[in-house]
Amino acid sequence: MKPPRTIRHEFVEAVPREREEGVLYISIPFSTAVHSCFCGCGLKVVTPIRPTEWQLAFDGEAVTLWPSVGNWDYPCTSHYWIRGDRVFWAGPMSRAEIEAGRARDRAARDTHYGGPPHMPPPAAEPQSKRKKGFWSWLTGRG
Ligand SMILES: [Zn+2]
Repeated sequence: MKPPRTIRHEFVEAVPREREEGVLYISIPFSTAVHSCFCGCGLKVVTPIRPTEWQLAFDGEAVTLWPSVGNWDYPCTSHYWIRGDRVFWAGPMSRAEIEAGRARDRAARDTHYGGPPHMPPPAAEPQSKRKKGFWSWLTGRG
């Protein structure tokens, strides 16, 4: 497995036509992130930021995108996670896993439009920890 690679993120108004390799371009006005496939093949990868597509987290320094980016329609079929401005290689996926992933995406969409929004837990800091901090602050008790 390849070691994680560091990338850069850039908040842009509109995604530039000429993309730099190793840069994740994020357009808030268009709710979209675009990058050249981080495997190095350079193919354009578009990840719409939507409740049913990808979610983006920005901690002030680095960005995290989830779920993973799976370029199974590209010759490279690369699959990776973008977490804290770093790319973690998820390894090749079998055809069955790809189909399972697609089914899961569809299910997420169905859930979103039919029921409660699908939102994976944040990458950093577990929810319970934050709640406790807030409670301590509220009550003045440690
Ligand atoms: Zn690629």
